[in-house]
Amino acid sequence: MDDTIAAVATPVGMGGIGIIRLSGPRSVEIATHLFRPHHASPPFKSHYLYYGEIVDPHTEVVIDEVLLSFMAKPQSYTREDVVELNCHGGYLVLREVLSLLVQSGARLADPGEFTKRAFLNGRLDLAQAEAVIDLIESKSATHLRHAASQLQGMLSREINTLQKALLELCASLEVSIEFPEEELEPDSPAQIITSIDHLISQIKKLLHTYAEGKLYREGVSTIIAGKPNVGKSSLFNVLLGEERTIVTPVPGTTRDFIEEVITVNDIPLRIMDTAGLRDPEDAIEEAGVRKTKDKLDQADLILLVIDGSVDHDDRVTSLLPDVKMSNVVVICNKVDLPRKVSLDKLQRCFPGSRIVATSALYKSGIEELKETIASLMTTNFPSLPDHTVISNLRHKVALEKTVEALKEAHEGLHKKIPPEFIAADLQSALHCLGEITGHTSGEEVLDHIFSRFCIGK
Ligand code: GDP
Repeated sequence: MDDTIAAVATPVGMGGIGIIRLSGPRSVEIATHLFRPHHASPPFKSHYLYYGEIVDPHTEVVIDEVLLSFMAKPQSYTREDVVELNCHGGYLVLREVLSLLVQSGARLADPGEFTKRAFLNGRLDLAQAEAVIDLIESKSATHLRHAASQLQGMLSREINTLQKALLELCASLEVSIEFPEEELEPDSPAQIITSIDHLISQIKKLLHTYAEGKLYREGVSTIIAGKPNVGKSSLFNVLLGEERTIVTPVPGTTRDFIEEVITVNDIPLRIMDTAGLRDPEDAIEEAGVRKTKDKLDQADLILLVIDGSVDHDDRVTSLLPDVKMSNVVVICNKVDLPRKVSLDKLQRCFPGSRIVATSALYKSGIEELKETIASLMTTNFPSLPDHTVISNLRHKVALEKTVEALKEAHEGLHKKIPPEFIAADLQSALHCLGEITGHTSGEEVLDHIFSRFCIGK
């Protein structure tokens, strides 16, 4: 990369500090053009901090008082010369400094371009680069841990080990193809089949972790359903507790589909249609029945709230004809009032669902509700400590394609087809595996991945 890029690396808005980052061969030269150090003079030492001012070179007007840090290649995020300017965090200040940097020869960075350079210069592989986005966007402590270990290269190491094993298999096959007469004793087909099966089972183990990774990464699409006045909003607020809400308007939809995220035992629940929650006219009895049904079908988790102090309305049951009961938690609310509905009856009405009794008013049963939700959502997860977890759909697809190719090779060996075809299948498996760490990813895939980053990262 022979040009030098610049961008504001901190979020837009006002803050104590705003950081502008430069990366490329001319970083120091461009920054020095504007920077007047108070005590030191260039050349700047790597990994030192310098205090001074940014001055407009045309007018000699001081724009800001800053700290400049220089990280010489290859000991930097991008493995290029990097300069960071800690300015004051006002929008105008940062804009002005950035525009002076551009006038002095820097180019505005594209989203993710710093991380892309880190990848292209071999500082990170693709899985690690993706972990950077995950780290920034993580919504749960567990996902943060997964992303951090991916950034440390835990997934990459597993992929590399698998790749090495596959390469050895390829090499062994090549020997039998290229030098059939030599006495090199390549692995027998039976041995190769055993090795392939072993690889498949290892990859499948990784694939099994996807549900867990996805849960903590993306959260669970959840709907709180129930008749008006049963206590849906009250329960929502209790669950929300002190947790912060993240309101994400889903692109292309109206206010109706605003999602709010509440975290229950570190599992992000993406509550759909909270607009309806706030409006007691909405929900089951109104015209929204069809809409509600559609949403029930889409949800991973349904929290069905029943008012335990009034007679049970069987029509509620009819709302859930096709819903998988194992995804349903029936909440018998208002148990502080004289009970009209027994939990046994609810269990009969909603067989296979979990039943919890709560009082949103007195905040009782809430812990049990949270634990029920968490255990329902995590039942099938492997309980190994510190295991690698995949959470990215792209990785899952690549692993599935690898398994497919390996299965082809397995079949081929059984059918005794010529080893050239088996070798091609193994090569294809190797290629799919390499997509995860970026060894075999095309330009288009890279552009797509890095475009998801924010500018300055
Ligand atoms: P929604 O229409 O289902 O969202 O119901 P709300 O949350 O708005 O609650 C309806 C009414 O029931 C309000 O007056 C609440 O204070 C009351 N309420 C909610 N939960 C409880 C509870 O557990 N016990 C009692 N006694 N009242 C409750």
